Amino acid sequence: MSGKRTSFSMGNEFNGYAGATYLKGTDRQSYPLLSQTDVRVLTSLDSLVVMALGAIPVYIDANQADLDMSMAVGAIPQVNMVQVTYDEKTGTTNQTFQVASSGVSTGSYFQGYSNNNNANIVEITPIGWLLFGTAGWKWGEGTGTKKEGWLEDLGKWYYFRNEWMVTGWQLITYKGKSHWFYFNTKKDRQGVERAGDMVIGWIELNYNGENHWFYFHGNGTMAVDTWIDYRAKDGNWYYCGSDGTMRKSQLRVGNDGNLYYLKDDGAMAVSETIVDKDSGKTYYANEDGVLKEQATKGLKVANSPLVVYTQISPNSTNPRNHVIDTITIHCMAGNLSIETCGNVFAPSSAGASSNYGVGTDGRIGMYVEEKNRSWCSSSASNDHRAITIEVANNGGQPDWPVSDKAYAALLDLVTDICKRNDIKRLLWKGDKSLIGQVGKQNMTVHRWFAAKACPGDYLYNLHSDIAEKVNKRL
Ligand SMILES: [Zn+2]
Repeated sequence: MSGKRTSFSMGNEFNGYAGATYLKGTDRQSYPLLSQTDVRVLTSLDSLVVMALGAIPVYIDANQADLDMSMAVGAIPQVNMVQVTYDEKTGTTNQTFQVASSGVSTGSYFQGYSNNNNANIVEITPIGWLLFGTAGWKWGEGTGTKKEGWLEDLGKWYYFRNEWMVTGWQLITYKGKSHWFYFNTKKDRQGVERAGDMVIGWIELNYNGENHWFYFHGNGTMAVDTWIDYRAKDGNWYYCGSDGTMRKSQLRVGNDGNLYYLKDDGAMAVSETIVDKDSGKTYYANEDGVLKEQATKGLKVANSPLVVYTQISPNSTNPRNHVIDTITIHCMAGNLSIETCGNVFAPSSAGASSNYGVGTDGRIGMYVEEKNRSWCSSSASNDHRAITIEVANNGGQPDWPVSDKAYAALLDLVTDICKRNDIKRLLWKGDKSLIGQVGKQNMTVHRWFAAKACPGDYLYNLHSDIAEKVNKRL
């Protein structure tokens, strides 16, 4: 195409300069007024074009006025460059322009464009973002063709399929493999897409009707079956599963064969005790997150099905830090119902609790779940490994006797606790020096840890009988 070339500055005034090939929008300087022999402006829109900031003139005959083109008249504030050529032989005008960003308002763009050879202005070969109303965006390549595939613009990545900018989930072949990508979507009140940029890093999205976190690598590919080393950001490791969802509240076998735990927020547990919600087991995660197997040995945490009343006390350490391997029987030093006993342990000011309580009527209450440590025996180390049981007394000191019903219920409860916690045999020697040596003695009494009569002489003297009767039932 031969002909004159005319360029325009993007200043406040509509200036043109015949001769220059390109002018950038930042080149704010005065030029001689445009010769109207080079460019024709739709007469009725003349004043608008002249006054508009950064206006790009529309070269169209009033007789051939195209609605889409008419809408384009006005400011295109982020235009970088405009090139206009006029072909004297054919009488046609060609205009090329480049738009800097999609972040400008509706009306700032050509809303589509005409390629009508019957009009005097014909070939408009845009470079940059092109908005087609609510239908979406394309990217003009300046040659009349539109972008396909990847585009980097202002540091963000976009993707075009069949010329249209895509949004949301997209399966795209990248380096010979199919990968999921996600492109932000954000429509304005007019329904026009204002995003489309590729997501990198974490994003929470609705997936199968639930919100899940997904992680996208630096190249935009979704993380699949992968540990996410996020230590530099928040100190944590995370894991994304086969469907890309961040996993949480579950055990995970690491690539090294070790067991790890992903907490409720997805962060891998480190240097802490955790309870696996699926199995109810308690583990200790070391500084590398590896779960210590010895802490899981024999631990089957659940609560007794014999419980008929539950009032959880705030006075506990959650969770206990030791396997349950000991039974510690106490006396209430009073004839408290299991409800009253629960009330006693209810205020934090009481500073005391037990796992279970047995009433004179033989009913059983629970105040601290087995997975947690009660504050009962004046010994933290004892209570971390023991199930503690308060039994109501139907008589006073010094014996503190208990009813037959209470005693029978106690035997049932201790039997149930031993079965569920893999305590094979109850062992009682009445020897304080054997505290902690559960292979020799796994029953303890409060009076060994504090100057107390507990559990009272009545129950203390029945400890051999309790061990014998329970062992027959194990
Ligand atoms: Zn006691």
